Amino acid sequence: MTDCLFCRMVAGEIPADVVHQTDRVLAFRDINPQAPTHVLVIPKEHHATVGALVEADPVLLSDVVAAAHAVARQEGLVSGEGAEPGYRLVTNTGPHGGQTVDHLHLHVLGGRGLGWPPG
Ligand code: 5GP
Ligand code: ZN
Repeated sequence: MTDCLFCRMVAGEIPADVVHQTDRVLAFRDINPQAPTHVLVIPKEHHATVGALVEADPVLLSDVVAAAHAVARQEGLVSGEGAEPGYRLVTNTGPHGGQTVDHLHLHVLGGRGLGWPPG
């Protein structure tokens, strides 16, 4: 039994609104969405941060990015032809990055103009 929230979602112990998955990656809607589309994409295996994952298993990180793009396609954020209307991928690391769950996740954000730079 783990106390990692996202590992518990992978194990089915906590419900998740799943929008996409593969054998190694899970994508589900954020409980507190910051945009019309706000999906979290995680490796099913526990890795704390993007840096930890790229060092441990860069192929799995590539699978996570591919799943994030598949979600963006599925949500209508990009077409097969191009990058319109577009979306943003975010991953936070540590307290200055704003990371609150220590299991790597990519935020897929879209459905409105997001602005830049972030606050
Ligand atoms: P972070 O701040 O670590 O980059 O992002 C963590 C994200 O997880 C936040 O956007 C937060 O809303 C989301 N979150 C926290 N608890 C839950 C939960 O129980 N279910 C879902 N679906 N999302 C969660
Ligand atoms: Zn975990």
